[in-house]
Formats: sequence, structure tokens, C-alpha cells
Amino acid sequence: MEEKYSEKKYTEAVGQLRQWVEESDNIVFFGGAGVSTESGIPDFRSVDGLYNQQYAYPPETIISHSFYKRNPEEFYRFYKDRMIFADAKPNAAHQVLARLEEQGKLRAVITQNIDGLHQMAGSKEVMELHGSVHRNYCSRCHRFYSLEEILAMDGVPYCECGGIIKPDVVLYEEGLDQGILQKSVSYIRHADMLIIGGTSLVVYPAAGLVNYYQGNKLVIINKTVTPVDNQADLVVQGKIGEVFQNL
Ligand code: NAD
Repeated sequence: MEEKYSEKKYTEAVGQLRQWVEESDNIVFFGGAGVSTESGIPDFRSVDGLYNQQYAYPPETIISHSFYKRNPEEFYRFYKDRMIFADAKPNAAHQVLARLEEQGKLRAVITQNIDGLHQMAGSKEVMELHGSVHRNYCSRCHRFYSLEEILAMDGVPYCECGGIIKPDVVLYEEGLDQGILQKSVSYIRHADMLIIGGTSLVVYPAAGLVNYYQGNKLVIINKTVTPVDNQADLVVQGKIGEVFQNL
């Protein structure tokens, strides 16, 4: 029978993680939506996540490139309502990661998140695989618009030139920035410790990044089981903000 994840196991795992972090000066962190749930931003796949709520179309459809092109009004209604959390603040996970970088222990944060909270916490080397809600560009003249400017416009935001403004966010059906992907692969390949947290590891190609890690300190911190738990050297099952508070 499978052993239940106990309080004792959790405490031991956090202790082991703390020791590895103390010993390491080449940590790379790779995270997803679960890193920001303790900041009040819902993830996609948890029971209270976006995918388990009812909308006129499935969220994967709305935030796809073809839907955005076909129906920008509905796209922007959903996007502004459900994917923008302008008042969210970094939690302990973001803050401790920024501190570890400052201390020379952590080389980079690689994130699937689009919320900008790592930078807000002070992290410098952040690989945003899926872009950021904070950058927006006119699709005709490429003028830059901030998140505040987008939110100040009702409905679909249009540039002064008449072009539609698109968030610099990777939608379904769109490719990832190859430069960012290559840099992320390189950070992971050379890391002595890879901490993966708050991600269901089912969104490709991002989820495939774990396969580039060559070391022997692969740590998973997640509330629920992930497909790579059995490859990990250490699994901490819990809330990532609380775990990082203990480091
Ligand atoms: P996901 O929703 O598929 O998975 C989130 C995972 O985090 C789940 O396994 C869940 O159990 C775990 N989790 C939730 N809260 C946690 C916590 N406090 N501590 C530890 N674990 C926690 O998210 P994903 O894997 O990142 O992939 C979904 C896609 O959603 C990404 O591509 C991302 O771009 C996008 N997204 C981003 C944001 C954001 O920017 N904050 C929010 C929602 C979705």
C-alpha cells in the first residue's frame, strides 16, 4: 500500500532541502502557476483553478491564437477578467528566490507564469517562457503599452494608429521564444540543483525542460503529485510559499 505523506516526511524533506540549498551555489528554479496561487492568482488545473470553472468556451480555446484572431472581444473579456491580477503581490516563494539570487546561490528563475511577480520581488535573471502581461505591443506599428494602459482602455485595446494591441503572452498554437528556451536549457543543463515547483508539468515544450538536468539534486515542491516525482531526488509535498519560508 502507498504510504501516506506524513507531517514527519514533510519536515524531513524540508530539512534536506534546506541543507542542499545551503551547500549549493548553482541552483536553478523552474516554476509554474502554483508559485502564484498564494498571491491570490488562480492556477489552471487545481480544483478551484480556471479549468474547473464554467465559461462559454473552454479556457484553452479562448486563450488560443486562432480564437484571439477570430473573436478579440471575447478573448479580452476573459483575459482582463481572469488572467490579470494587477494588485497581486509576491509571496514568500518569490521573495526567497530573489534573496537566493542576491546571495549568489541561484542562477536563474525559469517561469511559465506571465504575472511578473518574480521581478516585483527583486529577481533579475528571469526566463519568462510564456511572456508577460506587463508587455503589450501594437500589432501594426509595434508601439509598446504597459499593463495599466491596456486596463485603462475599455474592451479590446487599440493603438493610436488603429492597430489592435496584443499582449506579449504566448497563446496556445503559438511558439515559444527560441532564445529564451535555449538560455533556459543551458541554465538547467549546468545547474547543480534544480528545484521545480508549482507546476503540473503537462504543458509542453516547457515541461520537457526537466530532461536537460544532469545533476543529482532534482527537487519537486508541489501540492499534488507530478509526472516527474519518480525521477526526483527529493519530493516536498506542500504549499510552495510555506516551504520557502523555512529556507
Ligand atoms: P497548472 O495550473 O497546470 O498547475 C499548477 C500546479 O501547481 C498544480 O499541480 C497544483 O497542484 C500546484 N499548486 C497550486 N498551488 C500550489 C501551491 N501553493 N504550492 C505548491 N503547488 C501548488 O499550471 P502550470 O503547470 O504552470 O501550467 C499552466 C499554464 O498556465 C502555464 O503555461 C502558465 O503560463 C499559465 N498560467 C499562469 C499563471 C500566472 O502567471 N500566475 C496563472 C495561471 C496559468
